[in-house]
Amino acid sequence: MTADPVRVRFAPSPTGMLHVGGARTALFNWLFARHCGGTFILRIEDTDRARYDARALDDISASLRWLGLQWDEGYEIGGPCGPYVQSERTAIYLQHAQQLLDSGHAYKCYCTPDRLAAAREQQQRDGSAPGYDRACRDLSPDARAAHNAAGAPFVIRFRMPLTGATTFVDAIRGAISYPNAQQDDFVLLKSDGFPTYHLANIVDDHLMRISHVLRGDEWIPSTPKHVQLYAAFGWQPPVFAHLPVILAPGGGKLSKRHGAAAVCEYRALGYLPDALVNFLALLGWAVAADNEIVPRAQMLKEFTLEGINKTGAQFDHEKLNWMNGAYIRQLPLAEFMREVTPFLTNAGVLKGAEDPAQVAQVLQMEQARVHLLSDAPAACAFFFADTLEYDRQAVKKVLQREGVRDHLLAVCDLLAGVPPGQFDAAHLEARLQEYLTRSGRPLKNVVHPLRVAVTGRSASPGIFETLVAIGQARVVQRLTHAAGQLCSAP
Ligand code: GLU
Repeated sequence: MTADPVRVRFAPSPTGMLHVGGARTALFNWLFARHCGGTFILRIEDTDRARYDARALDDISASLRWLGLQWDEGYEIGGPCGPYVQSERTAIYLQHAQQLLDSGHAYKCYCTPDRLAAAREQQQRDGSAPGYDRACRDLSPDARAAHNAAGAPFVIRFRMPLTGATTFVDAIRGAISYPNAQQDDFVLLKSDGFPTYHLANIVDDHLMRISHVLRGDEWIPSTPKHVQLYAAFGWQPPVFAHLPVILAPGGGKLSKRHGAAAVCEYRALGYLPDALVNFLALLGWAVAADNEIVPRAQMLKEFTLEGINKTGAQFDHEKLNWMNGAYIRQLPLAEFMREVTPFLTNAGVLKGAEDPAQVAQVLQMEQARVHLLSDAPAACAFFFADTLEYDRQAVKKVLQREGVRDHLLAVCDLLAGVPPGQFDAAHLEARLQEYLTRSGRPLKNVVHPLRVAVTGRSASPGIFETLVAIGQARVVQRLTHAAGQLCSAP
């Protein structure tokens, strides 16, 4: 017998922008499909019409594409098991709900919202277990006929076994068992004719021949319902693999209040997709590598369900930033420039008239320093600014000191006198050394004020490369300005 082909799906509900937790689920499905030579499907679960958000739908597909997690079948691209959007499949769910009614695994419930609310309140007063009190489960045929004749609105509920337990084997956690008495007669079809998540999800997983369900562990409590539904239809359930929870740095589930949560926000902050993918892959997957930088090709080769951890994975922003910096440094310069230019243009740092050679020179230096592409505007602005903004602290501590003005003026003369063809790091260093020897000053007493005067701040890339990248004319102009305006105490 040959094993069934691997078919996995990512099944987001378009109720908000794609969250990093959702992206991790998509990534694990994608990795598993690619590792096994299987099929990765994108299915849209949009049956909750009250929370539906069309922007979220666009965002999900754009974010997955940006991450490089292309699906083989599904939303926007179609395939043999379509449609892949649940709101276009309502007739299929209706037919399956009817099938369960016919086989006695489901029943119509005519309870009004008021009656359900009153029953809930009573349960609270009695301290009894919450859940549907099964008032319609055993209605007589006459009572049902009367409700139907009166055109009473109804939902369709699943007839849960009342005794025994439902057990399934999770590929990551092993056997999990729930007593049936704790389960509700959950709704399959709502009064608006839309299915609930449970019905639509398992009908689609079956019809789309999904072999493995990889999803977040918040869905574990739903799985016994699904297992019971599979049994009621007489279908073989897929393999379930519930991914470990993603924890916020201080513990607890990662959420919006811990900073950026949506993939599009990370994109806007200047994270690279490869870095985010690498980081997310390590949230719950123990790769057998010495290094945490794992190229995609290696992930695809090594990804297995056995390698997924049971325990929660901590979302460490510092690690993500470090990793993003490492990916930025791996980019060829031209690609880094292409990625970072929109950030510089949007921030008004680049206006389009800059000398391309100067831009390349600056960006080469900053590529070695930034963690996020969005760090670049603040890091690079001083190279291109017509009017420099000075850090007041640096001016006070470094420039407004005895003797600094004279040194700046001397260095200004020296730099102004360098023939333009020799305005390079090696020549500048040699000239400054001569000056230091002549004046008997230690290097730092001259370099610190020089740095503050030409960059406005106390930190920059190497001073000689920085001078070259700013350009001779601007360096001289800034030194003259600093010596004239800033070196006297305020
Ligand atoms: N639509 C569900 C969600 O938004 C899918 C859960 C599942 O994968 O079964 O996460």
